[in-house]
Amino acid sequence: MNDVDAPDEAKICLVIAAHPDDIESWCAGSVASLVREGWRAVYVLCTSGEKGTSDPDELPDTVAARREAEQRAAAAVIGAGEPIFLRLPDGGLQDNAHLRGLLVREIRRHHPSLLLTHDPVHPWPPFTAHRDHRIAGRVALDATYPYARDPLHFPEQIRAEGLAPHATPEVWLFNSDQPDYYVDIADTLAAKITARLAHASQTSDPAALAASWRARAEETGRRGGLALAEAFKRLTL
Ligand SMILES: [Zn+2]
Repeated sequence: MNDVDAPDEAKICLVIAAHPDDIESWCAGSVASLVREGWRAVYVLCTSGEKGTSDPDELPDTVAARREAEQRAAAAVIGAGEPIFLRLPDGGLQDNAHLRGLLVREIRRHHPSLLLTHDPVHPWPPFTAHRDHRIAGRVALDATYPYARDPLHFPEQIRAEGLAPHATPEVWLFNSDQPDYYVDIADTLAAKITARLAHASQTSDPAALAASWRARAEETGRRGGLALAEAFKRLTL
């Protein structure tokens, strides 16, 4: 279902997203397909989504704990491992060396054959895409190239932590306004929706969400010549 040429011992897809529920919203069907093909999926969540409540009296720590639990459940549905939570501030992601170094470390720890992250250049919706989505995607791409590849960037990770530089050969950008690569999710849409519904705190009407998401997969599929699809901007590095 994909053109990624990954050796058996290195089939890792690293998914870097801004908030809990982003992965389920944009790419979990494709990740589930990769997992079924034998890939290992690693999720990195830049924030724990502690602003994601309409109740002004809720404590951010309470919201974050709930959303991390939901993200763990969603990852389990897809067959991904325990998510990595960077716990940076929701709504406060910055394009800086701190976030870049954190993402370089995850790339050097996991040596992915494929990175999935937000499209920071042509995000959807254009002009009003969430700031955290734009920042997470931008810094993830920068971390991939050239920072994780070149050993004199964040050299302490190599000298003190024993990590190795890594060049990621391929990137799929989700949440893109200019997709050019369609992945068949006919076999995994149900798992994707179940995973998305694990984010119960972000779901007011589960039946309506399931119906609208099937319709979205059908619409995306029509554009890609498939019955049900997710869409990406694909980069080879
Ligand atoms: Zn988000």
